[in-house]
Amino acid sequence: MAHRVTFIPGDGTGPELAEATRRVLEATGVEFEWDEKPAGEDVYAEEGNPFPDRTLESIKRNGVGIKGPTTTPVGSGFRSINVQLRKELDLYACIRPCKLYQGVRSRFDRVDIVIVRENTEDLYAGIEFERGTQENQALRRFLAAHDAPVRDDAGISIKPISTFGTNRIVEAAFEYAARNGRRKVTAAHKANIMKFSDGLFLEVSRKVAEDYDDVEFEDRIIDNLCNQLVSRPEEYDVIVLPNLYGDIVSDLGAGMIGGLGLAPGGNIGTEAAMFEATHGSAPKYKGQNKVNPTALMLSGVLMLRHLGERDAANRLEGAIAAVIEKGDKVTYDLKPSRDDPTAVGTSQFADAVIEEMND
Ligand code: NAD
Repeated sequence: MAHRVTFIPGDGTGPELAEATRRVLEATGVEFEWDEKPAGEDVYAEEGNPFPDRTLESIKRNGVGIKGPTTTPVGSGFRSINVQLRKELDLYACIRPCKLYQGVRSRFDRVDIVIVRENTEDLYAGIEFERGTQENQALRRFLAAHDAPVRDDAGISIKPISTFGTNRIVEAAFEYAARNGRRKVTAAHKANIMKFSDGLFLEVSRKVAEDYDDVEFEDRIIDNLCNQLVSRPEEYDVIVLPNLYGDIVSDLGAGMIGGLGLAPGGNIGTEAAMFEATHGSAPKYKGQNKVNPTALMLSGVLMLRHLGERDAANRLEGAIAAVIEKGDKVTYDLKPSRDDPTAVGTSQFADAVIEEMND
């Protein structure tokens, strides 16, 4: 039976990337019924809403979607669609594999890590008290009464980390590890300083780990993890982190594997999963058939695995890896020089991947 999937082309370079990805996904032989829905700047211009209800309803109905990037215009008053999506669908786990493929220029020899970032809590929960407001003053009064004075001119952000939130993200990391033949989960934290938030994250992580005999567990203090990631990346496998550290380490990981054009992602919740690249809509390249579709295609690989289509996922990943390794039919960002005249376009890259799969 065909998989019914919500397909969101997005805006900027999104539609070109999404089309290239749709073509390679179809070329795996897996059957899809695409439920195409709009999001982003273009539908905002037409309907005054960048994320129409019918798009959200479609994802709720289908439980799985793939999305091209969408622009968040600065100062337009519309909230990031990605933040809305995560909130509306409680997509609490952000999975970002960072794998270095042969043929990509990087200062590292081997990187194959998977970052599992908690998406809903921590300093990104949006609990903030602006400097100079009454609420801020009331909170400071409360803190002073508890022997924790804060300067009058401070802005304050609160960092909630719950047992519930930690439990499910660490379980998601172990489940991912177990399902994908990974050997180890590392929990990253700063429990030595933030005893009641990161300390709780560590304590709950240790408890969850007890249920998984076949996957090793260790923990690292976040600053030490960053140091070791760039000196000995081969020692790491799946890394689970609270929201803020996860955001930063995801970008570190993307840099280690050759850049944003190569970094895929999936946002996963109990009711739905949405797959998308780490990068944005790169609007300056819109309509030029130029940018690299690898990150979205690899997000498609994650989606195939999520749908239980392991064989197709492996074939597609293998074909993408082969095209990158051969290096002749790749986009400008994967060439030794950015103005290399032999670089191919987004759609020709997709042709090369399809050809490779059919070989
Ligand atoms: P960006 O990722 O769109 O682009 C930054 C630069 O990275 C580009 O100019 C380009 O040089 C390079 N790049 C990005 N993707 C590439 C690709 N596939 N191939 C080759 N090179 C690539 O970041 P930005 O310019 O900061 O953001 C543009 C818009 O995208 C903003 O409105 C931002 O809010 C939004 N955004 C959306 C998402 C999403 O939809 N998931 C994620 C991040 C940013």
